[in-house]
Amino acid sequence: MAHVLVCDVPDPRVEAVLRARGPVRVAAGDQGPGVPGPSDRVLLLHPDDQRVSGWLRDLRRRPETALVPVGAAESPDPARAAEDRRFADGLWPVGGSEAALARLLDHLDAVAGRVAALPPAEARRGVEGRAVALLRHLVTRRAEALDPVRHPAATKGYNLPLAGLVLDLPRGDEFELCEELSGLGLFEREFRDRIHLCPHCGHYAINFREVCPTCRSARLRVVSNVHHYRCGHVAPEPEFREGEDLTCPKCRRVLRHVGVDFDRPNQVARCEDCGGVTPDPEVECLSLVCGRVFPPDLARKFDVPAYRLTARGAAAAEAGRLPPRSLPELLHEQFHTVPADAFGEMARLARHLSDRYGRPYALAEVEVVGRDDLLARVGPVETLRVLQTVVEILRGSLRETDVVCPVSESRFRVLLFETPDPGARRALARARDEVARRLAGSPVELRIAWPEEHP
Ligand SMILES: [Zn+2]
Ligand SMILES: [Zn+2]
Ligand SMILES: [Zn+2]
Repeated sequence: MAHVLVCDVPDPRVEAVLRARGPVRVAAGDQGPGVPGPSDRVLLLHPDDQRVSGWLRDLRRRPETALVPVGAAESPDPARAAEDRRFADGLWPVGGSEAALARLLDHLDAVAGRVAALPPAEARRGVEGRAVALLRHLVTRRAEALDPVRHPAATKGYNLPLAGLVLDLPRGDEFELCEELSGLGLFEREFRDRIHLCPHCGHYAINFREVCPTCRSARLRVVSNVHHYRCGHVAPEPEFREGEDLTCPKCRRVLRHVGVDFDRPNQVARCEDCGGVTPDPEVECLSLVCGRVFPPDLARKFDVPAYRLTARGAAAAEAGRLPPRSLPELLHEQFHTVPADAFGEMARLARHLSDRYGRPYALAEVEVVGRDDLLARVGPVETLRVLQTVVEILRGSLRETDVVCPVSESRFRVLLFETPDPGARRALARARDEVARRLAGSPVELRIAWPEEHP
C-alpha cells in the first residue's frame, strides 16, 4: 500500500506526515492519479481545483478505482467543495492543520480496511459489475442511502451524483437502473419529491402559462370589467377607453365618477390576439425541449426517490454479485397466487363442480424455458427485465379469477375457472406467442401443458 500524492510542488510538511505512515508516490498534475492499486490511498492535493474535481470523477467512474479511498484539496469555492464531497472520502484545505490531515488519513485507512476485507467481486463487468461497485461503495463508506440532488442539466431535474458516476450513465438515467436494483430487493425507495415531466419527451422543463380558450394565444392581458350603472353595460375597460376618458361603447355617455357612474366588478383576461374575453383562462403546458403543448393533467408525474440500501443489498455487496429475482416472487406481486396445498384444494373443488354441475374449468402448467440459460448469459438485472416482460404479458392474458401456483423457479400452474374450451387455451397461447415475438433473440419461451380440461 502507498499514498499516491498528486501535486506539482509537494508541501514538505505533508510529505513528512505521509512518509511517517508508509511509502509515498508523488505524481505531478500533468500525470494525475493514474490507476492506483487496490490498496492505495489517493491524495489529490493539487492547487487547481477544477482538475481535482475532474480526477475525483474519473476515479469513481472507472470500475477498477471506484472504491479507492480518496482525499482531496478542499476548493475555496463552497459550491465546488460541496460537489467534491459527494465523491471524495474527505477534503482537506491545503495548508490546513496537521491534525485535520491526520484525521483525513485515519479515515482513508478505515475505508481501505473495509474495502480490503471484501472478497474479490464475482461480477466485475458490465452493468452488474458497476452495480456491485456502487453497493460496495455504499457499504464501505457506511452510507445508507443514495439521495437525489437537484440538477438543471438532468432530464428529470434531479440526479443521483455518485450512482450516475459509478454506473457511468448519462445524468438522470441512473434512476432507471436503481429502480431495477430495487426490483431485485437491493434498495428500498423513499419518497423525496414529485415533479412533472413532458409526456412526449420526458423532460422536466415545462412552462405553465395561461392561454386564450378560443385561439390558444398566451398574449393575455388582465383587465378590469367596467359596469356602466345607467345603461347596465358591462365590458372590459379598454373598450371604454377613449384617450383620457371612459366612454360607454353602448350609450356613448362619458363615465366620470367611480361609485357614482360606474364600478369595476371584477377582472378578466382579454386576448390581445383575437379580442376574446374570459374570466378564467385555461392553463396549458409548453415543453421547452420538444415544443409540444399539452394540458397540465397530461404531464407525467415522477416521484423522485432516495434509495436506501436493504439487508439484501448489503449482502449482495459482501458477496460481490447480484441475487437473481425469483419468478415466484414476481408472480406473487401480480397475480392471485396460492401455495400448493390450497391450490390442490381449489383444483379438487373445480373437479367437483365440473362433475356435478358441468361447470367448465382448465388447469395449465406453464414453464418459462431458458431462464437459467439467460441468467448465466446476461446476469440478474437483464434476466429480471425479461421475466418482468413475461409476467406483464401473462397479466394481459389471465383474468382476476384465475389462480396461480408457483411450483419452482421456472414453473407454475394456473387454474382457470369457468373457461369453456377453447377459451383458456386461446388466452395462454396468445401469451406464449407474444413472448416469442417480444423476446425474439432471447432463449426464454413459454411452454404450456394442459393436464386437465373439462369439458
Ligand atoms: Zn417535451
Ligand atoms: Zn384569443
Ligand atoms: Zn352605457
